[in-house]
Amino acid sequence: MLKTLRRISERLAVHRCPACGAVTRRAATLCPECLEKYAEERERRCPFCKMTAPVCVCSTRELYYCRELGRTMRSILFYSPENPTAKKLIKGLKYSSDREAEIFFARELSREILSLFAESGEAAKEWRVTFPPRRPRSVLMFGKDQAKSLAKLVAEYTGMTFSPVLRHRGGKAQKTLGAAARVKNAARSYSMKRGADVKGGKFVIVDDVVTSGSTMSACQTILLKNGAKCAFVLSVAKTPRRGEGADMMRSFRGRKIG
Ligand SMILES: [Zn+2]
Ligand SMILES: [Zn+2]
Repeated sequence: MLKTLRRISERLAVHRCPACGAVTRRAATLCPECLEKYAEERERRCPFCKMTAPVCVCSTRELYYCRELGRTMRSILFYSPENPTAKKLIKGLKYSSDREAEIFFARELSREILSLFAESGEAAKEWRVTFPPRRPRSVLMFGKDQAKSLAKLVAEYTGMTFSPVLRHRGGKAQKTLGAAARVKNAARSYSMKRGADVKGGKFVIVDDVVTSGSTMSACQTILLKNGAKCAFVLSVAKTPRRGEGADMMRSFRGRKIG
């Protein structure tokens, strides 16, 4: 009975394309035009290494490489001003209160990680999903923590364990800072949640957009220092930026990676 009611209400509900707002038939899908553009965006090449986002090796390689698997984790898209469909989708993910973009990307990320696990012979249930918590003040302001909701959904869709082990200690917003200050601020901003145990754990750190990589690097370092076996990043998008990002990553080189 409940199931039937739910099915009927799903049928009647109006769904909108998370990129352009056009009415769509199913929840959390792109309209046909945006789907085509999205496929094009995924083929976009990094201006520096000429690779697509999943395999771009510029600024964030250490974050994405897992020694345990001997593989590089994937990021779906590049985020840049020349990439309007991706930009709109990510804006929806960050600021919209409806969850269509979130669900769309959680499905995409889940597909990526499951295919990576399949190639590597890994069982999803042995892995844990975590995220860099947003600043408490931003959560109050925007009413949501998009990395957290994404991580939760990815856990649900893949069978990994949702594992919120990190804590944001307040501090400045990363986007207000320059390169060197970002690294310091990120390192200060996160810590382990009290009582959290990550020893021997295999972690995927989920985030929406990776820019300089300093936030994710700080989170990765904390997990590894506290005994996680490996920890690497799965993000919706990253910015193809050599300058600032690469300088920053250089300062991370030599550090143990996941
Ligand atoms: Zn559309
Ligand atoms: Zn690149």
